Amino acid sequence: MKLIFLGAPGAGKGTQAEIVSERYNIPAISTGAIIREAIKNETEMGLAAKAATERGELVSDDVVIGIIKERLAKDDCANGFILDGFPRTVPQAKALSEMGVEIDLVVSIEVEDEAIVKRMSGRRVCPTCGASFHIEYKPSSKGENCDKCGEKLIIRKDDDPAVVLSRLETYHEQTEPLKSFYETTGKLRIVVGQEELADTTALCAKVIEDFMGGNK
Ligand code: AMP
Repeated sequence: MKLIFLGAPGAGKGTQAEIVSERYNIPAISTGAIIREAIKNETEMGLAAKAATERGELVSDDVVIGIIKERLAKDDCANGFILDGFPRTVPQAKALSEMGVEIDLVVSIEVEDEAIVKRMSGRRVCPTCGASFHIEYKPSSKGENCDKCGEKLIIRKDDDPAVVLSRLETYHEQTEPLKSFYETTGKLRIVVGQEELADTTALCAKVIEDFMGGNK
């Protein structure tokens, strides 16, 4: 199964992608996580991506297309994968299709901008293992520390409210057009993001199960 999770930053696509990844035992691939790792390690790509990411802007299509090409060539993608945060522009979606990747389903998680700003102010991430939490909706069992590796959790630079507004603008301008791009392929499914994480998970599961049922 090859899935794309679409949605504004903070809509919950990363969390849902992780849940689906565990359920179906296929990797969830986050270009944002790959870029953050490169920035942390100060690789050439990381240094080039740092400024754009911190301003809430997109990294260039060429760079992220290169990242995805390399990642999808790995063995663990043989039975499928979930893309979280890619594609984010129409040229990226076209590049994916030109790579010969046939996507089964595109799940767009929709959440109002206002709710997103509120959500993102409570988001915390682990700088060591990359796990993501929310002080209200998905707290770590170890409070201010990561419940996977114990590291002290931090607020991502790009979760700062001013940067969040800029990221939302970028989303509406550059990523939202992907909905009509995928609608024409008949693969787009809309999930309205719910207040409770588990309710969104149930809606995503239904969309995926309906697809699997129709493809037995
Ligand atoms: P995310 O964790 O998915 O919100 O991504 C964090 C940041 O990484 C974004 O704000 C962008 O600067 C960059 N990024 C991640 N994925 C992409 C992509 N597909 N295209 C361009 N920039 C990206």
